Amino acid sequence: MGKFKFKLSFVIVSMTVMIVLATSSVSIWSGYQNFNDILMQNNIVMQENYVKEVSKITESYVQEKLREPNRDQSIEPYMVQVVDKLLDERVVSFSAFIKSILMPLLLWLVAVLVLALWLAFKIARPLKQLFISVEREEVQKLEEINGWYYEAHSLKKVVQNMVVSSGNRIFDLTNQLNLDALTGIPNRRRMDQILNELIINKVPHSIVLIDLDDFKSINDTYGHTVGDEVLKAFAGHMQENIEKQGMCFRYGGEEFLVILPSTTIDVALEIAENLRIKQAMLDTACGRPVTMSAGITSFTANIKTANQIITIADQALYKAKQSGRNCICVVEELSEKTIK
Ligand code: GH3
Ligand code: MG
Ligand code: MG
Repeated sequence: MGKFKFKLSFVIVSMTVMIVLATSSVSIWSGYQNFNDILMQNNIVMQENYVKEVSKITESYVQEKLREPNRDQSIEPYMVQVVDKLLDERVVSFSAFIKSILMPLLLWLVAVLVLALWLAFKIARPLKQLFISVEREEVQKLEEINGWYYEAHSLKKVVQNMVVSSGNRIFDLTNQLNLDALTGIPNRRRMDQILNELIINKVPHSIVLIDLDDFKSINDTYGHTVGDEVLKAFAGHMQENIEKQGMCFRYGGEEFLVILPSTTIDVALEIAENLRIKQAMLDTACGRPVTMSAGITSFTANIKTANQIITIADQALYKAKQSGRNCICVVEELSEKTIK
């Protein structure tokens, strides 16, 4: 069929008209032919009967006349008998009518019915397949559907485009759902997902909970907009430094969290310390250094949820703040050490 597609509306109308015309012409023609044949055969039989009957009557009439020449006998009653008999024979028998007219007509109608059912099945098939694929969300099966006529082909294309565009939309929305609107880095929702997955699968990892120091005073002194710029710059700086070693998230407000999969607490401390030193020396939107404090901890077998590991890191962060800010504190289960 190639790229050419039938228009179903056109096909249905033209096929219906053609089938009706063809069926009626063929039935009328064959009925007429069969009826003619029957009449012709009847004519022959009638002719033979007529000849036989007339010769019989003539013979008996002649014999009567020879026997009684003086009797005035009319031939009319004899002729009436013959005509009656012949008129009876002119009626076409019912079995001949069924055999020659009704049966071919019925056969033809059955053939037309089978053709109509086959056509209806072919038309309904791609629509049914479309319905099943969409209902069961089997998107890859859409391509296998044979939209052999225009409407099914168009419908298939529209459904495929809708599936692709809604997939893209869902992908965009999911991305937006997981990103922080201000800084553009992944948000707490995404952080919880990843952290819980790591914990459930018992993947060793360390986390760094970061809090910018005296941030309230930046807002109070330079305004909220400048505060926003400082937050955005810090998020960018943090991502640049962490690179492929881990994932950065905005935990909330001026707090951030770094997940470092398969990283020991000592390596995590090195990475965080490197970030802290660079941050303290960085130019900022408010014109003065903005430092950070951080709390670090690592996954242990007794940690079951994201909240548990964050709580330990928060204890470490609290200690760092207590130690005078711009510093990092580590809490590994029971032991702790502070670096300044
Ligand atoms: P500390 O060193 O103890 O952390 O002091 P801090 O001032 O940083 O902490 P505090 O919790 O008192 O203040 C946090 C401030 O961060 C207060 C809030 O207005 C500000 N903040 C939170 N989210 C945003 C934000 O999205 N934009 C801006 N500009 N400021 C924010
Ligand atoms: Mg805070
Ligand atoms: Mg703070």
